[in-house]
Amino acid sequence: MIGNVVVLLGAPGAGKGTQAQILSERLGLAHVATGDLFRAAVRDGTPLGLTAKGYMDRGELVPDSVTIDMLFERLARPDAAKGILLDGFPRNTAQAEVLDKALAERGGKVDVAPYIEVPEADLVARLGGRWICRAQGHPYHEQTKKPLVPGVCDVDGSELYQRTDDQPATVQARLRQQLGALDQVVGHYRGHEVLATVDGSQPIDRVTDGLLAAIAAATGRQG
Ligand code: ADP
Ligand code: ADP
Repeated sequence: MIGNVVVLLGAPGAGKGTQAQILSERLGLAHVATGDLFRAAVRDGTPLGLTAKGYMDRGELVPDSVTIDMLFERLARPDAAKGILLDGFPRNTAQAEVLDKALAERGGKVDVAPYIEVPEADLVARLGGRWICRAQGHPYHEQTKKPLVPGVCDVDGSELYQRTDDQPATVQARLRQQLGALDQVVGHYRGHEVLATVDGSQPIDRVTDGLLAAIAAATGRQG
């Protein structure tokens, strides 16, 4: 049997990683972020990382076959049985359909797909000012979420750095290439009547409240 499945949707920079870390802790769900998995593979220099790096540097999606294999390998780990919070997957309709099918085969489904909606103009500033930690990818921002000690992660003490794909030219490419596919994924879950839109331009704790309410309404899980 499979636990609850929550799919966090949003454009690059919308706040998925920020919220996923808070929500996974409060709800006892396994946080599964495909971007974090790819960055770990790049850092470790694995064959998967070597394949993914070129696509990531160009702001493109990594091919579906590679991404899906990596995701299912992660979902086979024991902690996924308590329920999963997906962050960064699915990113196109083909991935959404593969996920639906795989969950159905295991007697599960996507319970709710909260969509963190942020105006496109705000995304550039969010990505340009983002710093993340080396150890676990905890996100910070130069203006809106400063760490207590400059350059150091509040949670695990590791060093903060700026992602190469958060440079202005790559940010433009990512938004140009990925926003259309996001619209289709949003449409997919709207069609399945599991979409819940939350205003992502609010402060972080208000967005969390909106997401918790949407997840509680769909699953009964309280944060
Ligand atoms: P962001 O935090 O900006 O939304 P992520 O950390 O989720 O970005 O992803 C970084 C990069 O990793 C993406 O630009 C893409 O190249 C790759 N990636 C992550 N998830 C997927 C996916 N589901 N399908 C294809 N590529 C992905
Ligand atoms: P995503 O995972 O969707 O790409 P992140 O969670 O990494 O997004 O957030 C992108 C940037 O915006 C980070 O620098 C983060 O600190 C900041 N951020 C996240 N949520 C908010 C918010 N509600 N208001 C202002 N800044 C935010």
